Amino acid sequence: MPFCPKCKYEYREGIKRCPDCDLPLRAHLREESEPEPMEDAWVVVATAPNEMEARVIRSVLEAAGIPVWERADIVTALNPLGMGPLPEESIAVPESRVDYAKKALRDARKR
Ligand SMILES: [Zn+2]
Repeated sequence: MPFCPKCKYEYREGIKRCPDCDLPLRAHLREESEPEPMEDAWVVVATAPNEMEARVIRSVLEAAGIPVWERADIVTALNPLGMGPLPEESIAVPESRVDYAKKALRDARKR
């Protein structure tokens, strides 16, 4: 039976979308034998002493089309009031994009 990946509600055969979530239904429940798609590990490619520099690095990588993860995002989520000392900003990219990201940063510094 097709089911909605979000609300897990099962639908009759032939129904293609969940009307509640507006998502395409999946053909059947995931089985043990079907592995999860591997997610890239995140690798830190740069650190910045402050948020401003982190933002510059981030914009270079995003301009190159690389998804960027900043440690500050997590800190902000845990500490929305922004109290306490800011940790060093760590900028991470998916493992498969590390070489590309380093090249983009090198090119940016040459300018
Ligand atoms: Zn749904």
